Amino acid sequence: MRFLITGAAGFLGSSLANRLVREGHEVRGLDDLSTGDPAVLSPEVHFTRGDVNDRPKLWTLLQEVDCVYHLAARVLVPESLLYPREYNQTNVGGTVSLMEAMRDVGVRRVVFISSGAVYGDQQQQPVREDALPNPRSPYAVSKLAAEYYVKTIGGLWGIETLCLRVFNAYGPGQHFPPVHAPVVLSFLRQALNNGTLVVHGDGQQTRDHVYVDDVVNAMLAASTAPEVNQLTINVGSGRETSVRDLAKLVISVTGANPEVVYNPRSDRGSSRLCADLTLAADKLNYKPSIGLETGLRLTLERDTRLRVR
Ligand code: NAD
Repeated sequence: MRFLITGAAGFLGSSLANRLVREGHEVRGLDDLSTGDPAVLSPEVHFTRGDVNDRPKLWTLLQEVDCVYHLAARVLVPESLLYPREYNQTNVGGTVSLMEAMRDVGVRRVVFISSGAVYGDQQQQPVREDALPNPRSPYAVSKLAAEYYVKTIGGLWGIETLCLRVFNAYGPGQHFPPVHAPVVLSFLRQALNNGTLVVHGDGQQTRDHVYVDDVVNAMLAASTAPEVNQLTINVGSGRETSVRDLAKLVISVTGANPEVVYNPRSDRGSSRLCADLTLAADKLNYKPSIGLETGLRLTLERDTRLRVR
């Protein structure tokens, strides 16, 4: 098959692109390189630097494409509180630009990578796709608005759509910004440097950490799965881990001895979050295969940036 991946030079986009070319598919990648790095892409990926709002570029890249994976986005929740307009422009505007270009060229299917962040706080855990979304940041709002655009205009224009709500993905190659780094990578790095593990809040808040290879498996299945048009499907590990337990696991896996410090005044979003995977199992035959301890070990082994300096 022939694919276009937006955000192809990012963490999840590059993992997907490299896997697809290994499986013999033709892959075109688009990324503006605002955070992505094309050096991580296999040479067989046809890479183009560009913005997801650039429709003429999209028209060219979409020719004879069977399925689009849409991942291009700004992804930092705390940053989105400072720059909601930019988040709206890329995450919502970029999605609408892509959908228009798909309609113009006549592409059959789009898989939109949404986020478990759209759920916000929910009483019922694990959370099912039919829970009422409760976004708590401009990032989460932008992903939810983009979902609605994808489904609504996809339905009107005859484009098959599938939204995957990915929970907290981690693994080698995850983007590591200087501030607001994702918790798994940041704990690993701090532990290896025998620094301080800073836990925001009381450490009881939970997340569903899913290893990148499992997310890629779900994304692969999404391009050909039957009877998924207009669906939204969770992709996670189905396991709930508190930040406190994550810190303990990181310390055990690294064999390091960092100090763990709690910052009770900082609040980082919902208190509990865990994916119900019933629909993913049913529609995508998805079953996460890599537990958190194994995933942390694999990340340590494979992410060369984590070597102790
Ligand atoms: P990432 O930052 O590594 O990847 C995003 C990519 O999009 C980057 O390479 C960036 O350069 C590119 N990009 C940003 N703005 C662009 C624009 N205007 N035009 C073209 N490219 C642009 O992040 P990631 O973790 O790989 O996330 C990929 C997608 O998955 C995002 O849509 C994100 O919302 C979603 N997601 C990620 C997670 C996670 O835990 N990593 C969880 C849920 C959802």
